Amino acid sequence: MHEFSIASGLIEKLLDFAEKNPDKKLVEVRVAIGEFTQIEEEQLRFCYESIISEMPIAGSTLTIEAVLGKVACPHCSYSGPPKYWEGVISGTPIATLECPRCGKAARASEGEECAIRSVRYTQPNEITELTR
Ligand SMILES: [Zn+2]
Repeated sequence: MHEFSIASGLIEKLLDFAEKNPDKKLVEVRVAIGEFTQIEEEQLRFCYESIISEMPIAGSTLTIEAVLGKVACPHCSYSGPPKYWEGVISGTPIATLECPRCGKAARASEGEECAIRSVRYTQPNEITELTR
């Protein structure tokens, strides 16, 4: 499953940081997912949550930021939003690499990324012992 391997890769990086910073607790991770990656947000969130349930980063939230795709055509030098395939019965239309102007194969210039944008941690709790 595509989403499962993406989630595992992401979690590996987060665990790495968690190990080096045991006093910080991960609250939220924000990732940018490009339109051309064909990643299902719900699927990715589900994979993330089920994988981390037994880990030190359990309880953290995965926030997905969708990045719109852009194509560049080497044939007619079109550059801009992609053509969408409307043949899907349910769900959102799928971005294609077909040039909206000349119909030939274009390439993705934006929207292929899948990257961590930011992570948020709680500050370590300060516990003050009251001794009398
Ligand atoms: Zn073109």
